[in-house]
Amino acid sequence: MNLSRNFTLQELIKSDTAVRLGVDNNPNANQIEKLKLLCENILQPVRDHFGPVSVTSGFRTPELCLKIGSSITSQHTKAEACDFECPGKDNAEVADWIYKNLDFDQMILEFYVPGEPNSGWVHCSYVSEKPRKQFLRAFKEDGKTKYKPIIGKATDLV
Ligand SMILES: [Zn+2]
Repeated sequence: MNLSRNFTLQELIKSDTAVRLGVDNNPNANQIEKLKLLCENILQPVRDHFGPVSVTSGFRTPELCLKIGSSITSQHTKAEACDFECPGKDNAEVADWIYKNLDFDQMILEFYVPGEPNSGWVHCSYVSEKPRKQFLRAFKEDGKTKYKPIIGKATDLV
């Protein structure tokens, strides 16, 4: 089943951990509709501009979140967020392009190390009502994950 021209439902729900642990990671009809919006408004435009997109995590049921140690209130459980990279492209450059061109809700440049284009990944969410356009970076400090707003461009981070 296709969610948009270049994205399938399978790509947005696949999880090796879910398969390994026998966790059901299937979205309901309403969640599938939201995954379509995510593809149409975020992933497909990124694909059209940068070329192939590798989705590392899309929809996650609360049960799967618990198993992998992620928050059950994450937008992944609402079928509103996905993690991805564009192979061979600088994650900061991809994030800056999304910030400038798309109506996202929250975007997090995760564990990106300035000067290492392939480090980390992009987390981006979409909601149809009142997107916040919140742009953050996540990094580890003293073993904890911290978040800071990105002011200006991610490609200018040092
Ligand atoms: Zn994420």
